[in-house]
Amino acid sequence: MALEPELFDALIDTVRRFVAERLRPLEAEVEAADAIPEHIVEEMKALGLFGLSIGEEHGGLGLTMAEECRVAIELGRTTPAFRSAFGTNVGIGSQGLVIAGTPEQKAHWLPRIARGAVITSFALTEPDVGSDSAAVQTRAVRDGDVYRLSGTKRYITNADKAQLFTVMARTGDEAGGRGVSAFLVPRDLPGVSIGEPEKKMGQKGARVADVRFDDVPVPVANRLGAEGEGFRIAMQVLDRGRLHIAAVCVGVAERLIADCVAYASQRRQFGKPIAEHQLIQAMLADSKTEALAARALVLETATAKDAGSNTTMEAAAAKYFASEMVSRVADRAVQIFGGAGYIADYGIERLYRDVRLFRIYEGTSQIQQLIIARETLKRGG
Ligand SMILES: Cc1cc2nc3c(=O)[nH]c(=O)nc-3n(C[C@H](O)[C@H](O)[C@H](O)COP(=O)(O)OP(=O)(O)OC[C@H]3O[C@@H](n4cnc5c(N)ncnc54)[C@H](O)[C@@H]3O)c2cc1C
Repeated sequence: MALEPELFDALIDTVRRFVAERLRPLEAEVEAADAIPEHIVEEMKALGLFGLSIGEEHGGLGLTMAEECRVAIELGRTTPAFRSAFGTNVGIGSQGLVIAGTPEQKAHWLPRIARGAVITSFALTEPDVGSDSAAVQTRAVRDGDVYRLSGTKRYITNADKAQLFTVMARTGDEAGGRGVSAFLVPRDLPGVSIGEPEKKMGQKGARVADVRFDDVPVPVANRLGAEGEGFRIAMQVLDRGRLHIAAVCVGVAERLIADCVAYASQRRQFGKPIAEHQLIQAMLADSKTEALAARALVLETATAKDAGSNTTMEAAAAKYFASEMVSRVADRAVQIFGGAGYIADYGIERLYRDVRLFRIYEGTSQIQQLIIARETLKRGG
C-alpha cells in the first residue's frame, strides 16, 4: 500500500535534509574511521530507515518498491556506506523472511529488524561459490528437530554487527538450486563465528566478513519455505535488491553531476569557467543523459513490480545499466575536476572507488547480461 502523497513527500524531504545536513558533513570522517558513528545509526533508526520495506503491521514504513527506489535515490547522494548500515535490513537480509516467512517467523523477527534492534545479513556467497550461486556447498543435514549447518560464507555485508543471517545451504542431493534451502540463523547459536572485516577498495564504513558455521544446530522451525525452495527465495530477494541498488546508483550519479556543475562553474581556465568549454559540457551532457535514462528505467520497473509484473529481466537491466552508468559518470567527474579529481580532499576519487562495487555485488554485470539475454530469449523479444 502506497503512503499518502503528502506523507511520502514529507518523508522524501526529511531524508533529503538528513543526507545534506547530517550525512554529507561526515563523509571524510567515515572514510578515515571505516565506521559509521553510532549516533548517526541511532538517527537512522529514529527516521525509520531500517524498516523502509517492511510492512506497517510489523512496525516498518511499508513502502512500495517505487517509493523505496525514490528514497534510495535520495540516499545515493552521499557515500553509499551510510545506506549499507540499514541496507541489509531493508533488502537482502530481511526480504527472504518477508517473501517466505511463516506468520510466526515474521512476528518474531520483523518488528526488531524494522526498528534496527536486530541487524540482519544475507549469506549466499562462499569461498568457491560466487556467480554460480546455485552451487552452494554449505550443508544443512536434518537431525531430528534441528539441521546441522556447516560451511563458510564469504564477503557478507554487516556480518560483524548482524544478529541474524539468512543462509542458503544444501539440504538435498539434487543438482544446483533445487537442492538448496534457506534458513534463519541467529548469531548466538553455538558454532557461528565471524571473521575479521576485509580491507576493501571503497565504501569504507560498510564492512564485510566471513561467517563460519561449524555444526550449528538450526531448529527446523527456522527454515524459510519448504526444503529445496531456498535458491528460488534467494533469487526473488535479489530481483528486488537489484532495483534498490540501481536506484542508489542513480542517486550517486545525480550527486556527482551536481558536484561537477558546482566545480566547473567556479574553476576558471583560459579566462573563463571551465563549464563554458564545450568539451566539458559534452561530458556533463553525457552524464546527465545517462542518469536520466537510468532513473526512468528504475522507476518504471519498480512501478511494474508494484503492479505484480514479473520484472526479473527489467531489474537485471536496471542494475546493469545503472551500475555501469554511474561508473562512467564517476570517471567523467574525475576528468572534469582535473587534478583535484584525483586528490582525496574533494571526495570525487572516493566516490569513484565507492561506485566500483555496484558492478560486482548482487550479481556482476556479466551475470545481469546473462539474465537479460535468458529472459529476452524466453519472452521471444
Ligand atoms: C563488498 C562486497 C559485499 C558483498 N556482500 C555480500 C552479501 O552481503 N552476501 C552475499 O552472499 N554476497 C556478498 N558479496 C558477494 C558478491 O555477491 C560476489 O562477490 C559476486 O556475486 C561475484 O562473485 P565472485 O566474487 O565469486 O566472483 P566470480 O563468480 O568468481 O566472478 C569472477 C569474474 O568472472 C565472471 N563470470 C563468472 N561467471 C561467468 C559467466 N558464466 N559468464 C561470464 N562471466 C562470468 C564474473 O562476472 C566476474 O567478472 C559481496 C561482495 C563484495 C565485494
